[in-house]
Amino acid sequence: MTEHFSVKLPEEVAHILKALNDNNHQAYIVGGCVRDIILNKDPKDWDISTSATTDEIKAIFNKTIDTGIKHGTVSVVIGNKVVEVTSFRTFNPDESKSLITDLSHRDLTINSMAYHPEEGLLDPFSGLEDIKNAVIRAVGNPSDRFMEDPLRMLRAVRFSATLGFDIDKSTLDAIKSCSQLIVNISRERIRDELTKILISNRPFKFILLRDVQLLKYILPEFDICFDITQNHPYHIYNVAEHSLKAVSEIENDIGLRWAILLHDTGKAVTKFTDKDGTDHFYGHPEKSVDIAKNVLERLKFDNKTIAKVCRLIRHHDKRIQPDFKSVRKAVNTIGEDFFMDLLKVQEADKKGQNPEFLNTSLTELNKIKEIYKEISNEKHCLSVKDLKINGRDLIALGFRQSKEIGCILEKLLNNVLEKPELNTYNDLIEMAKSLKNQQGESL
Ligand code: ATP
Ligand code: MG
Repeated sequence: MTEHFSVKLPEEVAHILKALNDNNHQAYIVGGCVRDIILNKDPKDWDISTSATTDEIKAIFNKTIDTGIKHGTVSVVIGNKVVEVTSFRTFNPDESKSLITDLSHRDLTINSMAYHPEEGLLDPFSGLEDIKNAVIRAVGNPSDRFMEDPLRMLRAVRFSATLGFDIDKSTLDAIKSCSQLIVNISRERIRDELTKILISNRPFKFILLRDVQLLKYILPEFDICFDITQNHPYHIYNVAEHSLKAVSEIENDIGLRWAILLHDTGKAVTKFTDKDGTDHFYGHPEKSVDIAKNVLERLKFDNKTIAKVCRLIRHHDKRIQPDFKSVRKAVNTIGEDFFMDLLKVQEADKKGQNPEFLNTSLTELNKIKEIYKEISNEKHCLSVKDLKINGRDLIALGFRQSKEIGCILEKLLNNVLEKPELNTYNDLIEMAKSLKNQQGESL
């Protein structure tokens, strides 16, 4: 099937296609870039498939890099641009090497189209029609595709979330019956797909992972949250649905979205129903931190992301009063670098709860934001390093042990958080002296 439309190819891509053709090889742009062009999006990268072998590719171009010889891929360097060129792939030894065979082993019909400037669109699996109908469909027999590479099941859900397409029924059924194969896939690849779903414009599609029974294999800690009901006036959803509603309410930053996803996972192990039938989840934030740390380490996230997510989860339920003293203390506890993020988490959390209380919560959070702005503008003292005296001043007063000095500085800070006007050299020296006298007396 050939569709006639013309595509403005980047110079280096057109050059590579022509050089391969001039050397009597077939060559096409394939996969994601063709899909993106049809969707009117700028392709992130341009992939070329060719009948040439890797040796033949390398013989044609001056500068190449062996990025994946084992998989038939060579990177061709033209000026400061790099394009991946891959020899037509086959999956079984009895298959012939051709464009059609190569396309037939790709994951989804929308990702299995090729284009050539003279031949136009080559679309043997009707990807164009599926794009027009907004359908995600595996190429050929879905179960065969998923058995070849189970990650494709997650990719199907991911594209459903990023493009807003529905997954075709037979593809969906095949995912359900193949779901347990996902355990054979590396955790890094799973992490990347889950993250792409979460930071998409439709993170609520994450729920599909539950429907097709993938979640119990890759994120059982979240899967069980669908069974944790919350009989409490603030809540109208179970823990997982609440979390997914909240995920849709926060900007699409990786740390923020993972934090919201996992913030209530500790509820599964802390649920307590009182005699009136109301559910309580005392101490759940700490439990959620333990669970989140476990999940993120298992998925091989970097330490910085793990630390951020855990910090936000630890404090997500912290009640901050909308007054200066309370806000200063909260900023000190949470850290200036995370305070605004915490407010975003708290706002999203509220938006995923009973809407009856939303206005009151938002008014309060907005007040806290205003107060925080003022505190930052006026450079209020928020941590020990902002105090107008330091450890050396305390040594001069006769304090000796560093532990003791740290302790005194914390006490001074506490006073200053209560009353910022006390942050002067003289006031602090006087306070330190009286603390020393008190110590002397208590000895
Ligand atoms: P994006 O780049 O937006 O993540 P993409 O579809 O371009 O999406 P890539 O990883 O760049 O994904 O892959 C390029 C192409 O390679 C895909 O469009 C698809 O044709 C093919 N492909 C990628 N991963 C798989 C896979 N696991 N199984 C089969 N084909 C795949
Ligand atoms: Mg791509």
